[in-house]
This record gives sequence, C-alpha cells and structure tokens, in this order.
Amino acid sequence: MQFNVAGLLKGAVGATQRHLLDEAPLSLEDIQAERVWGAVTLMRVNDGVWVRGDFRATVECACSRCLRSYPATVSFHFDETYYPTLDIASGVAITLPDGAEADAAIDNHHILDISEAIRQNIILGLPMKPLCKPACAGICARCGRDMNESPCACPQDTGDPRWAALKDPLSPDKN
Ligand SMILES: [Zn+2]
Ligand SMILES: [Zn+2]
Repeated sequence: MQFNVAGLLKGAVGATQRHLLDEAPLSLEDIQAERVWGAVTLMRVNDGVWVRGDFRATVECACSRCLRSYPATVSFHFDETYYPTLDIASGVAITLPDGAEADAAIDNHHILDISEAIRQNIILGLPMKPLCKPACAGICARCGRDMNESPCACPQDTGDPRWAALKDPLSPDKN
C-alpha cells in the first residue's frame, strides 16, 4: 500500500496516477484482512498529493449471536491529502501543515503510504454487532447448542424469576 510519488511531486499540479490494488492477505497492525482490493487515484496538488481510494476488504469476523467466524466484506471510500517532508527540487525539509496527522507525511524517500487510511476505514466499516447472516438463530442460552444447526429441546421460556429483579433494577416491587 505504498507508492513512490517522486515523479508526481516533480510534475505539474493536476497530474494524476491511477493504481489498481489487490492484496490477499493483508496485515495492518491489529487488522488481518483476507483480501483488500480497489483503486486509488493520486493527484499532484499545490501542497502535496491528494489521494482518493475506493476499496473493499474482506475480514474474518465472529458472529455476535452464534460466535462462528465468517468473512465480512466492507466497502469504503476515502479522500486524504499527503504532504512531502522534503522539497523534491531543493532537498530542504518541509514541516507538516498544522492539523495534519503524522501518517499524512510522505517520507524522505518520497514514499506515500495509505496503509493507515485503509486500516482506519476497515475498522470504521466493520459492523458493531456482526452477524453471519441476518436471520442467525444464535446459541441457546441454556444448553449452548448452535440453533442454526437444529433447535434444541430446551423450554422456550428462559425467564428465571430469581433474575427478574436484576434485569429491571428500578422495578418498584424489587423485594
Ligand atoms: Zn451467527
Ligand atoms: Zn437449548
């Protein structure tokens, strides 16, 4: 997920490059993606390189109901500007603009790295409550059987009166 942008930085404002990417698997710190694929457009702008990415990623998730792992696919789009830390013509160091994140820096070898943007967008796109399928039947709270395989013989009513007060601590008839 790295690009050498020396050529772009030497070029005219408005010059673009487009790259198709397909990485399988891809390890990004805490994210292990089975596959990340998409397109990225790099454009020379006045103060750096503007990057637009359209990606999909497949990441193994644990279903929040049945706990099985399944591949979740996330689609995302991002726009980021990356800034040189060295003037390509003079070799003079350039400080990042105020408010720019450290990962928005193009390094001294003119390498622009979109890995952190990809990682953050995958995290944002992953479901808060992953489900292996919308109608996942989950696991029986009593016997632990995966109800997607077959229903168990447990009684349907799982309410236990001893827990009722805990479930509703504000209930007036608590004692
Ligand atoms: Zn499930
Ligand atoms: Zn059961």
